[in-house]
Amino acid sequence: MSRNIVINSVLIVIALAISITALSLYNLRNAGIKSAIHNAITISETVKSGLTSYMVNNNMHQVDTFIQSISNMKNVDKLWISRSDIVNKQFGHTRDRAKDKIDEDVLETGKMYYELEESLARTIVRVTIPYNAVAEKGIDCLKCHNVAQGTTLGTISLVLDISTLKEIGIESIYVVSLFLLVTIIFFLLYNKKYIMPYFRLYEIFKINISKATNGSFEKIAAPKGLSTDIISLTDEYNNLLQIFKDTTSDIDKKLQVYTGYKTSTMIRNPLKESREIVDNLSNLYQFKKQIELDSTIDEIYNRLKQILINRFHLKNFTFVEIDNKKNKTRKVVEKGNSLYCEKVIKTTPEFCRCARIKNDVVSIKYHNSCQYYDSDKYYYCINLDISKDVTLIIHITCDTIEELNHLKERVTFIKSYLSESAPVLEVKLLMNALKESAFKDGLTGLYNRKFLDEHSKKLIPQIRRENLDIGVLMLDMDHFKAVNDEYGHDIGDKVLKELAVILEDTVRESDIVVRYGGEEFIVLLVNIKSEENALSVANKIAQRVRENEISVYAGNKLKKTISIGLSMFPKDSSSFDTIIKNADMALYEAKNNGRDKVVRFREEHVTSVELF
Ligand code: GH3
Ligand code: MG
Ligand code: MG
Repeated sequence: MSRNIVINSVLIVIALAISITALSLYNLRNAGIKSAIHNAITISETVKSGLTSYMVNNNMHQVDTFIQSISNMKNVDKLWISRSDIVNKQFGHTRDRAKDKIDEDVLETGKMYYELEESLARTIVRVTIPYNAVAEKGIDCLKCHNVAQGTTLGTISLVLDISTLKEIGIESIYVVSLFLLVTIIFFLLYNKKYIMPYFRLYEIFKINISKATNGSFEKIAAPKGLSTDIISLTDEYNNLLQIFKDTTSDIDKKLQVYTGYKTSTMIRNPLKESREIVDNLSNLYQFKKQIELDSTIDEIYNRLKQILINRFHLKNFTFVEIDNKKNKTRKVVEKGNSLYCEKVIKTTPEFCRCARIKNDVVSIKYHNSCQYYDSDKYYYCINLDISKDVTLIIHITCDTIEELNHLKERVTFIKSYLSESAPVLEVKLLMNALKESAFKDGLTGLYNRKFLDEHSKKLIPQIRRENLDIGVLMLDMDHFKAVNDEYGHDIGDKVLKELAVILEDTVRESDIVVRYGGEEFIVLLVNIKSEENALSVANKIAQRVRENEISVYAGNKLKKTISIGLSMFPKDSSSFDTIIKNADMALYEAKNNGRDKVVRFREEHVTSVELF
């Protein structure tokens, strides 16, 4: 830029100098021409007066010598006179006739004429002035000439060479050029010494600001020769940069844990990044506030799912909750296709490498870091310890290595969301456990009667809405009192526990097994297809109980039987309480009929019980 300004300035000076020179030359030429004409007129007037005096004194024979002497004057190229035909006629001779058309015209019009003849080398002025007859006190032409006053008697013509004017002009061009050269040299020297440092500083500022915008804060070294004002400006700028640098690196260090960027791996723009960090922190803060208000653990899992989809644009991932104590897994969130280790993790959660080593497990290039992952896709597993016993595995699958690398860059930030969730998730787990313990029977681990009361409030309307059936089994161990009496309460408890296992193993996971009280149990066969199916499940239970051998002491085995009453909801009654009562009546019937029976409720049971 500075180069352009210097070149432009020099061109302006040259253009200015050329314009001034051209103007001067033009003025000089005009002035020269004017003065040449004036000279010519003066000379002509002199010739005219000379001629008049020669005529008056009758010395006309000396006229030629006079004309010759005038012709010899400097710059006078030619001088001639011409006489009008009237004069020649009066004096009877034919000398000095008009030489050219101009002479003739001036003789005829009596008016002065001049013209300019310019060539490259010379400038010539030709002037022809008329000699008109006058009748004045000193000179009275009419005395000798038989003409009227004002008649043109002759002309005097002069050719003057004014080329010297041109030479002066050319000389002035030399002078101006020299002046111009000196001015330009002076300007360049001045520019180098006093102006160029400012331009250099400007360039340095330009580069430096662009670097700073991209996150590289470098101080400016001011070039020599600048004014103190400008030097203090650069100092201020350097201070500002230092503040930016310190602040951004401070933010970077303190908040790197939230960003997921590693300073060494990327050239970043700290300003842009700081903005991103603040943005992220604000999102994280909002997220934390929201999950604190969520009522269930699954709501929080869902919120995390949305964050992974909307904030981190992940397409395939699964959350698996592993309960290390119960050795159970629960798939809590699923998006796209993922969890290519599901079979293994479901049956044997302790095989999950991520949960076991309590660290990230990531696809690596030349061997499989997790032997149970059954796909060619890339994966990234993160563990989050929610409580002492429960670990959440966030299993993410990537289609390409680029996707995986991008994920690696962001994983720290994903983890910041997870670690913010962990304490809230733990609270929810504890609350769930507490709630669950209130609904569970301590001896068998089955749901208790309280649970049945609560759960049926939600379950029954849903069953009604969806037009489904429930088979309700009421079960009672036969002669259980005798076990207690014979073997003691501990064996009695053992029999109950084994019965609970049989019940849970025989029915589907979606069915509900309840210890209703003492050695009475209720099983809800939810969404059972038919009465026959319900009866067959009940018979299967009775069969298993019958076959089960309970170790008592000294290698002795005990076998027990069970009686079961069945009632169908809503077929038998639209009231769930009545259904329970019906099942109980059927059970009573089974007991009455000799025990170890499965009895389907019938209306006549009602009257027989009432009678009893
Ligand atoms: P049946 O039902 O065939 O008519 O005879 P039963 O002996 O089972 O009759 P009953 O219902 O009267 O006996 C229930 C017994 O179960 C009484 C009680 O001592 C015992 N019992 C109830 N709860 C428990 C428990 O938690 N542990 C043990 N060991 N026994 C229990
Ligand atoms: Mg009983
Ligand atoms: Mg009993």
